[in-house]
Amino acid sequence: MINLILFGPPGSGKGTQAAMLVERYGLLHISTGDLFRYELSNDTPLGIEARGYMQKGELVPDSVTIGMLRNKVKANPDVPGYIFDGFPRNIIQSEALDALLEETEQAVSALLMLEVSDEEIVKRIVGRGATSGRADDLDESIIRNRIEVYKKETTPVFDYYDRLGKAKKIQGVGAIEAIFGRLCAEIDHING
Ligand code: AMP
Repeated sequence: MINLILFGPPGSGKGTQAAMLVERYGLLHISTGDLFRYELSNDTPLGIEARGYMQKGELVPDSVTIGMLRNKVKANPDVPGYIFDGFPRNIIQSEALDALLEETEQAVSALLMLEVSDEEIVKRIVGRGATSGRADDLDESIIRNRIEVYKKETTPVFDYYDRLGKAKKIQGVGAIEAIFGRLCAEIDHING
């Protein structure tokens, strides 16, 4: 199995690249942001709980997020691997993911981080907001808070996997196909 964490700030292109990676490698894409938006649009108790945090650009509590992620993984055991997108977002979630994969003698294969500057991110998210229908893409102060939360709470996840020799930085600016090529080169290298 190949289990990837697609990492990077909001608006760094994780969703776009994940869709292309699914096509090429047949992995299951698990985006916790997408899962929350699905729950939200169906007004489920989980969605209602997540709403306030999402509207502020804050992280949804770990117990809720980890439980949801766990259910998704457990419901899909027969896949060649997973692409985790938007998860883990802090060290507690990283440890929970490692423990979850360990239950089936699996592990994170690599964390691939898309590097994009703050200004480019804000520009991209504002552009995406026109069509994404995401409330948190429309307000620049919420976008900036998401970037702050990423820097404060989420960047330690990179160091966590870097210490295990699993973290790689990928230049996230340029043509979508060129970025995809860089990601594939890393994955093919891991795959041997
Ligand atoms: P995203 O689509 O990944 O940008 O996520 C949108 C929002 O969903 C975030 O701003 C958080 O409020 C929430 N969210 C998504 N993934 C997580 C996570 N792993 N932990 C906590 N909150 C999350």
